[in-house]
Amino acid sequence: MNETEWESICDGCGLCCLIKLEDAETAEIVYTRVVCEYSDQQTGQCSDYANRSKNVPTCVSLTRKKVTEFDWLPDSCGYRILDRVAKLAKWHPLNTGITESVKLAGVGLLAIPLIVNQPNLDYEDYLIDKP
Ligand code: SF4
Ligand code: SF4
Repeated sequence: MNETEWESICDGCGLCCLIKLEDAETAEIVYTRVVCEYSDQQTGQCSDYANRSKNVPTCVSLTRKKVTEFDWLPDSCGYRILDRVAKLAKWHPLNTGITESVKLAGVGLLAIPLIVNQPNLDYEDYLIDKP
C-alpha cells in the first residue's frame, strides 16, 4: 500500500485528536472532549496536518504497527477496521466517494461539544465515553 492509499483509509473523523488520559496504575485510557489548538472546528480535521508532530509533540503518525498497538483508537477508525479485517462504515469516504461524508453522516469530532485545550484545564471535567 503506498502513502496515498494508506492516507485514504483515514475517514477524517478527527476522533483520534481528542485528548486522552491514561491511568498511571491500570494503563486504562479514557477520552476527553478536549482538542488541541490545531483542530479545525469547521472541518473537524487538523489545520496543519503536515506539521502536526512538530506542532504537538504528543501527536503521533499512525503506522500499521502502531494501529495494532493503539487499541484506544475509535472502533470506527478506518485503520482499526482494516486491522480487524472488517468492513468500513457505510459513511466512509471510500464507500461514498464524498470527502465530507463523515460530516454529512453527523459522526466524528464535530458531533461532540468540543473544548479547545488551554493552560490549567482540568481534563477530568471533560471525560467522555470512548467514541
Ligand atoms: S480516528 Fe482513525 S479514521 Fe478517524 S481521523 Fe483518526 S486516524 Fe483517521
Ligand atoms: S496537531 Fe492536528 S492531528 Fe495532531 S492532535 Fe492536533 S489537530 Fe489532531
